[in-house]
Amino acid sequence: MGYFDSYTSMKRNLFADSKDELARLFETPKKIALVVHCNPDGDAIGSALALKHYFVKAGHLAKVIAPNAYAQSYAWMPQVEQTLVYEQQPGAAKALLDESDILFGVDFNDWERTNKLASELISFQGVKIVIDHHPNPSENLNTPYVFSCIEVSSAAEIVYEFMLEMNLAPIDEVIASCIFTGIMTDTGNFSYNDASPRTYGIISELSAYHIDKERIRRLLFQVYSFERMRLKGFALNHKMKFFPEHNTAYIWLTKEELAQYNHQLGDTEGFVNMPLDIKEVYFSVLFIENDQKIKMSLRSKGNFDVNLFARKHFDGGGHLNAAGGRSYIGMEKTLNKFEHLLNDYHSDIVSSYCYEAIKE
Ligand code: 5GP
Ligand code: MN
Repeated sequence: MGYFDSYTSMKRNLFADSKDELARLFETPKKIALVVHCNPDGDAIGSALALKHYFVKAGHLAKVIAPNAYAQSYAWMPQVEQTLVYEQQPGAAKALLDESDILFGVDFNDWERTNKLASELISFQGVKIVIDHHPNPSENLNTPYVFSCIEVSSAAEIVYEFMLEMNLAPIDEVIASCIFTGIMTDTGNFSYNDASPRTYGIISELSAYHIDKERIRRLLFQVYSFERMRLKGFALNHKMKFFPEHNTAYIWLTKEELAQYNHQLGDTEGFVNMPLDIKEVYFSVLFIENDQKIKMSLRSKGNFDVNLFARKHFDGGGHLNAAGGRSYIGMEKTLNKFEHLLNDYHSDIVSSYCYEAIKE
């Protein structure tokens, strides 16, 4: 069996054991709370909104809950403004959970990824369903309905397979646009190897719904302020530290610097990728100071496992080449700690990647 066959059959198996039970569950109208992780990205929001539209079309009530606010780059997404933000409306979000029959989590492997919302989700009494693609799903998910597959590019991809498999409502342009957004953002605009032949098969199928790909790209990526562009220049020019001996670079920004450039939520999105454009950089980290902590984004371009690194040292996690983390000891101590770790991980990092020409 080739890669493509084993991959598609694996995904088919993902739903095989639960399909009949779930079909019975969705036979009568249900109230569904769709929950995303904190600082939701395009995959989380795209997946949740796609499911919301799908379930509503199928005669259910569905609403999205986010632990905290979403960035303005997602403001155009259909009905995103109806999202209940727990940090802003904890009472309403809790009431919604209390009256929901089904809790549907997308794009996370642990209820703790929803921060303060986690205890509400752990104690939820109805049916819990999770669709995710992160490694190491947590025991605390505590449901037989964890549809997790780390070989796929995005949660949105599994959401699409779920929709086809359950066949509760027809897919339309709105649903297709949301799924496309999830796949597009989580594959780095179709540039990472986690996009499989099936990923492009799904994109081909979605194209049949006349999604406006160019418009989606503009709405996602060309919506920033003049100040944000200058913050980017400042970060690259003055706040990037390069360690050629460790094939590593980081960018760090303080609260004051962010305020100086009128920082808005989402403005530093993508900054962590910039140092990777340097040929000699295999590992890149972004440190962003906010009120309580330093938020970290970690990326690598070889096989240096930033998921493990973030889990072990910075209270985080994610994927092999993209992870997040946090530190509670202030910027200076955090950077010191990180620089010390670079010595410990020196050989792992420098041997993690190699520029290799494609041979004929
Ligand atoms: P970002 O740097 O964009 O915040 O996160 C990169 C990737 O790591 C995303 O897939 C995100 O969902 C995941 N991630 C970020 N923070 C955490 C964390 O604390 N735990 C886990 N398990 N994943 C995280
Ligand atoms: Mn994702």
